[in-house]
Amino acid sequence: MSRALFVGVDAGSTTLKVVILDDSARGVWHAIEPASPLVQPQAIRMVAQGLSAVGRPGPGPEGGPWWGEPAVADGVVVVATGYGRKLVPGAAMTPTEIACHARGAYFSLGQAGTLIDIGGQDSKVIRFGAEGAVEDFAMNDKCAAGTGRFLENTAQRLGLQVGQLDELALSTLDETPISSTCTVFAESEIISLLARAVPLPSIVRGLHRAMVSRVASLVRTVGVKGPLFLSGGVAMNRAVQWMLAQELGGGKVVVPEAPQRLGALGAALTGLRSGR
Ligand code: ADP
Repeated sequence: MSRALFVGVDAGSTTLKVVILDDSARGVWHAIEPASPLVQPQAIRMVAQGLSAVGRPGPGPEGGPWWGEPAVADGVVVVATGYGRKLVPGAAMTPTEIACHARGAYFSLGQAGTLIDIGGQDSKVIRFGAEGAVEDFAMNDKCAAGTGRFLENTAQRLGLQVGQLDELALSTLDETPISSTCTVFAESEIISLLARAVPLPSIVRGLHRAMVSRVASLVRTVGVKGPLFLSGGVAMNRAVQWMLAQELGGGKVVVPEAPQRLGALGAALTGLRSGR
């Protein structure tokens, strides 16, 4: 009999992530794609692709062995999280992103602490203990200013890729304060700063500061206990890493190996734990 597989699907508002673990919690496959407006077909296709890649194609559409079937019967346990988690077919469980991120963080980092997750359209702060047990959390999903969307929109406005922003922000010590906390108004502010010939790196640094200050306020509502960890797509931005560490007492911010897949990893681990 083939070994059981544990599939974690994180259907986020900006990206869809899939992680597949074997029964010893070893990662055997993973993928990430921009989120399509239709969660269901995308999740089916990506999971089927992963299962096929690890030699477990099934009889369902596109080889999905779990489509419409009780997943556990096939030795494949699918656990879905993220805002679209209820739309993932065949999911045996649908834990929240908060629980999955905490579990993924504890597994990746091996210790309790405080996790800041900055995604495309929300940010969250989760204080967790041993085994990723959630002690407290706060979430911002109402305002784009403390999320990846803020930097993404402004990058677009400046004709830059989001991945180029951190280098620009770190290339100067000069920082132009951005007074607009709303993404839409911040865009107009950028236009007028550029028109006044304010140097681009200084504007970009100011934008990072505006976003990080928002996130830091959210962190303060929960309070930091133990090391600070950073996840989500925005965790790959080195200027955000540095500024958060600076704003939150000059400490260090630790970024796990695959910060954007932490929720999907936590979902797969949830399946593994329940399947044992
Ligand atoms: P969600 O889980 O909410 O769908 P993610 O955690 O996948 O979101 O993060 C998506 C965000 O990460 C987007 O706003 C995107 O701009 C940002 N992002 C992706 N890659 C990078 C990068 N290299 N540097 C900075 N930000 C990035």
